[in-house]
Amino acid sequence: MDFEFTEEQKMFRDAFRDFVQKEIAPLVEEAEKKEKFPRQILKKMAALGYLGVDYPPEYGGAGLGKMGGCICIEEIARVCVGISAAIIIHTENSIISVFNHGSDYLKQRYLIPALKGEKLGAFGLTEPNAGSDVAGIQTRAVRQGDHYIINGTKMFITNAPVCDFILVAAYTDKSKGVRGGMSLFMVDADTPGYSCRSLEKVCFRSSETGELTFEDCKVPAEHLVGQEGKGFGYIVEALAGGRVIHAARSVGLATGAYEASLKYSQERVQFGQPIYKNQAIAFKLARMATSIEAARWMAYRAAWLMDLGKESLKEASMSKLFASEMAVDVANEAMQIHGGVAFTMESPVQRFFRDSRLFTVTEGTSEIQQLVISRELGLR
Ligand SMILES: Cc1cc2nc3c(=O)[nH]c(=O)nc-3n(C[C@H](O)[C@H](O)[C@H](O)COP(=O)(O)OP(=O)(O)OC[C@H]3O[C@@H](n4cnc5c(N)ncnc54)[C@H](O)[C@@H]3O)c2cc1C
Repeated sequence: MDFEFTEEQKMFRDAFRDFVQKEIAPLVEEAEKKEKFPRQILKKMAALGYLGVDYPPEYGGAGLGKMGGCICIEEIARVCVGISAAIIIHTENSIISVFNHGSDYLKQRYLIPALKGEKLGAFGLTEPNAGSDVAGIQTRAVRQGDHYIINGTKMFITNAPVCDFILVAAYTDKSKGVRGGMSLFMVDADTPGYSCRSLEKVCFRSSETGELTFEDCKVPAEHLVGQEGKGFGYIVEALAGGRVIHAARSVGLATGAYEASLKYSQERVQFGQPIYKNQAIAFKLARMATSIEAARWMAYRAAWLMDLGKESLKEASMSKLFASEMAVDVANEAMQIHGGVAFTMESPVQRFFRDSRLFTVTEGTSEIQQLVISRELGLR
């Protein structure tokens, strides 16, 4: 067993950490206040090979696999989870199925411009009446000659208010059920009939979220991703990779909250000594550091399995479940260590606290992860 990053991975992490501090950190405050994703970072990341690092170089990626993707997202989330959310949806969800199953036409039109930072993608699965129950979506795509006509509503869609395109899940034949009747389409945001209502959020504020409506959206037949009726399978395949990335994001947030707490505990003096000198505070920090370490190993092991092409559905869900709940606990303890100052908007930990709370809900709730894990354990 080798518990070390390779030299290449270490160099990538150190260089990217530096990039995040110089190019992303200064944008966070304004992005959070205005609820605007600072889109300019996409092109800067792309120029240095940081966007979509898990994709092969021929499409503009860095070929660093899921391990590289995890390193990248962990570093961004240490500084800002909202920005990491927009980037994850863009690189992991909006184009992954085109990479896996799309035609050359779709790759040229969406994958390559997305990895160059020229186009921003979104991913539309959730609907007002269908979240965990993906099979319950009501969006329909009906074939008419060389087009499909899409009708439906998508809810809580990251990047929707500012995206250039969206990967949409729709039933092409509901009678065939979720495994044979759901399909995926690439839809341009300027397609007539496409409209978006922005949603104001309590967290992830530097990513933009919306409710989308498709009203008789006419989409060319060649925008179907892969084969008709195979969409659910493509989504399931993509979600496992997404869960590992989400685990790494939780590790990043928790690390940021821990580092802020450690620093504060050394600076804040009460009863004539820094507060970390109290065992109650030191033990909190010890437990926080221990949980982060455990979650980090789970996330990177799942990513490593994925990069080797080994079975990793259970490990992906386990790492997502454990890391997201760990991040909620760590952010909560960070609030306690900071005392009253945590409750001002100037404090960095209030943002970690708000952002962490969504981790156990997105990309499959904790309950759904336990469903997946128990199935994988044979407990059907
Ligand atoms: C800020 C934000 C950004 C998002 N971005 C996107 C995006 O870009 N694209 C996209 O498609 N979606 C996105 N989502 C949607 C997100 O993935 C869903 O919110 C999530 O899947 C949960 O669905 P739901 O909110 O409908 O909750 P529900 O499915 O209604 O669940 C409510 C509660 O019931 C529980 N529950 C449901 N079914 C079961 C069961 N069988 N057993 C036990 N418990 C159960 C859940 O675990 C949860 O606790 C986003 C959401 C938010 C808030």
